[in-house]
Amino acid sequence: MPIYEYHCESCNKDFECLVFGNEQPDCPSCKSKKLNKLMSAASFFSKGSHGQTVKAGASSSACGGCAATSCTSCSH
Ligand SMILES: [Zn+2]
Repeated sequence: MPIYEYHCESCNKDFECLVFGNEQPDCPSCKSKKLNKLMSAASFFSKGSHGQTVKAGASSSACGGCAATSCTSCSH
């Protein structure tokens, strides 16, 4: 489903809109078409875990025996 998020430049309202093809939506509150298309983040965030940011490298330890990110720093 192509749901896009828009920001209305006329009334500064953010809203989500289902857009088919090249349809140009207008603002639901002021009917302006001066909209900024935002990244479709709604579906992305709903799937994610609650604020658990996994730092690349920190959680994927190269060493299975300890928390070190590299086995050069331990004896495993
Ligand atoms: Zn508006």
